Amino acid sequence: MLSLLASRLVTAATDLLFPPTCAACQADLATPHGVLLCSSCEATIRSDTLPRCLRCAMPCRTILQSSVGCSHCREMKLPFAAAAVLGNYDTSLRAVVIRAKYPHGEQLALAAGQLLADRIQELAARGDSPFATIDAVVPVPMHWLKRMVRGASAAESIARGVASRLNVPLLSSAVGCTRFLAKQGSLSQRKRARNVRSAYRATGQFELTGASLLIVDDVLTTLSTTISMGKSLIAAGAAQTLVAGIARSTSIVS
Ligand SMILES: [Zn+2]
Ligand SMILES: [Zn+2]
Repeated sequence: MLSLLASRLVTAATDLLFPPTCAACQADLATPHGVLLCSSCEATIRSDTLPRCLRCAMPCRTILQSSVGCSHCREMKLPFAAAAVLGNYDTSLRAVVIRAKYPHGEQLALAAGQLLADRIQELAARGDSPFATIDAVVPVPMHWLKRMVRGASAAESIARGVASRLNVPLLSSAVGCTRFLAKQGSLSQRKRARNVRSAYRATGQFELTGASLLIVDDVLTTLSTTISMGKSLIAAGAAQTLVAGIARSTSIVS
C-alpha cells in the first residue's frame, strides 16, 4: 500500500517537473500519466480505413480472407497465417517509422505499437481470424553491432507496445540475427531475399512448441525479412506465426 502511494507521488512529481507531451507532436497532454499521444496525432495514425489482404496486408478493393490472398501474394509461399499494418508507408506513418528508428523516438514507437495492437484486436474480433490466438510477440531482431550503433531497435519498441496492450509476453531474445545484414532498402527484391535468407535463428531461450507467435517489424515491404523470421520460428516448433508492422510499403521493388 505504502509502495503504491510512493509510486503515485513519484509519478505526480515527475509530471509536475516534466509535463507529459505527445510523443509525435510534443503538444502538452492534459491527460493522465501514461497516455503518449494527443487525440489529433492518435486519430491521424489510426486514420487508414483501406480494405486490405489479410495474408500480406496490401490494400485491396475488398478485405480478402487470409487463406485466399491477393494478386500480390497469391503465388508467394508465406510461413505466416496473416499480416496487419496501421496503414501505407507513403502517408504520415512514414515520419513515425523514421523517428521510431532512433532513441528519441522510442515513446512514439511504443505508442504506435499500442495502436497496432488495437488494429490486431479489431481483426481478431472478425470470425475465424488467425489473430484470435496470440501467445507471445517476437520483434525482428537487429544484429548486435547495428544495435550498438543505432542505440535503439524500432521493431523491439513497437513490439513492446503491442505486447503490453495485448497483455502477452514480449520475447525479444527468442530469435537472433546471425550476421550483419546489408540495408534491405538499398537492395532489389531478389537481393533482399538472399540478404536475409537463414539470417534469423531461434535462440532456444524459450519453449516455442505449439505457440502462436506474432512477428513485429516497423515496415513490411517485400516480406523477405518476415518470411525468414517466420521460417525460423516454425522450425523451432511454433504452430502458427502472424505478422504486424506499422506501415506497408506498396511500391513494387524489382
Ligand atoms: Zn500530437
Ligand atoms: Zn495479399
